[in-house]
Amino acid sequence: MRQSLVIANWKLNGNLKLVDDMVSALASARCSADVVICPPAPYLAALETATQRLNIEVGGQNCSVYSSGAYTGEIAAEMLAEVGCKYVLLGHSERRALFAEDDMLIAKKVQLAQQAGLTAVLCVGETLQQREAGKTLDVVKAQLSEVLNDVDFNRLVVAYEPVWAIGTGETATPEQAQEVHAAIRQYVATFNTDAASKLALLYGGSVKPENAEILFAQDDIDGGLIGGASLNTDQFLAICSAV
Ligand code: PGA
Repeated sequence: MRQSLVIANWKLNGNLKLVDDMVSALASARCSADVVICPPAPYLAALETATQRLNIEVGGQNCSVYSSGAYTGEIAAEMLAEVGCKYVLLGHSERRALFAEDDMLIAKKVQLAQQAGLTAVLCVGETLQQREAGKTLDVVKAQLSEVLNDVDFNRLVVAYEPVWAIGTGETATPEQAQEVHAAIRQYVATFNTDAASKLALLYGGSVKPENAEILFAQDDIDGGLIGGASLNTDQFLAICSAV
């Protein structure tokens, strides 16, 4: 039995008030899933302090491919770890599409993150065009293969996020999501069978209170990566309780 996990990805949203509101709401909530919040970097320390007595972890939304040096604006994986992060999102489709991150760069970041002691949440997923061309599994396997060649499976979570479902209100059906999740687990098993059965596989893409329960009930879906709905305390709590 795998432990369920729900991760909030605030993207470029939120403020100190949301940190307070979300922590207060979660403090009085009943939730059997592990919960991780990934706010914008300036709020990490405040969130880490506020969640210290709670069973909530904090994560970064990205890290640099460099460890230190003259790289203005970058944040190293070790810095995230030092301020209390346990997780970091890597390879999010917005990073891939808007910031030209490719599989090699993402694989390098995964290694640096894991070396810093962080669990890397590797995001993969196809565009609508790729799905319509019947290429979903090929795309997802290609995104995984670069990373899986040299990875610490104990510090890895994979999030399947179809690009066409992110922020669009359109969600993959439970069957569509389960099909890809099962294929991901099978593919991971070709690298390491034991790790594949233990790996947390999250679904992301317009998860809402209304669809969370049925998605999380699928055999190979171990939780969710939540964008828009993680900015609303009621919605996020409802999603966490749907596990
Ligand atoms: P969404 O975003 O829930 O707003 O679709 C998910 C994500 O990008 O991680």
